[in-house]
Amino acid sequence: MRSLGCRGEPVAGRFEAWSRMPNTTHSSIPSHPSERSCIDLVNSSFTDYLGLGEPVDRVNSREWRRWFFRRLGLHRLPCDVAIEDLVALRRDLRHILEKWSGGTELSARDAQLLDRRVRQAPLRQRVTSTRFGIETLHEPVHEDWTWVLATVTASAVDLLSAGDHKRLKTCSNPECSWMFYDNTINRSKQFCSTSPCGSLVRVRRFRERD
Ligand SMILES: [Zn+2]
Repeated sequence: MRSLGCRGEPVAGRFEAWSRMPNTTHSSIPSHPSERSCIDLVNSSFTDYLGLGEPVDRVNSREWRRWFFRRLGLHRLPCDVAIEDLVALRRDLRHILEKWSGGTELSARDAQLLDRRVRQAPLRQRVTSTRFGIETLHEPVHEDWTWVLATVTASAVDLLSAGDHKRLKTCSNPECSWMFYDNTINRSKQFCSTSPCGSLVRVRRFRERD
């Protein structure tokens, strides 16, 4: 189990402004998480699939943050969490990922923005023995909040460098902002999920034909 050497949650005051944001009946944990942490962060803010109410922002939820940090390999919340950093990174990643998925070439400024996040978390090389022999690996010098932001950013860089931009999509339900990576063979996935978004839009289209 990884520990950051800090047991504390952030003081309550740091979250006061965020806790006043609208709450909804949506679960704190996504039912359709991505394989990539950058997409999960982008999807932490989403619109209701029916177009009702205010957008949901899960970064306000301690339960979501615990889930998100665990998926990064952390079992304790970093003590120096700053929600505004997470929100700023989310805004930048959505902008860059949407640009990329639309086929627009990323700019030097986009690369600099990503580089600025990643380079702040220094890595060191280690040597380890496995059943396949001796291997080198990289580990963070400090598993702190900066490392969390850098790791999520690196997830986006990996997607941008090795992924297929045509597979990164936003749900075809016009009310839904959910982003996903389409792993189907013929890139045919249109909706974040068959229910409710897929069913809802198909019913709407059927009625419009009448
Ligand atoms: Zn959807």
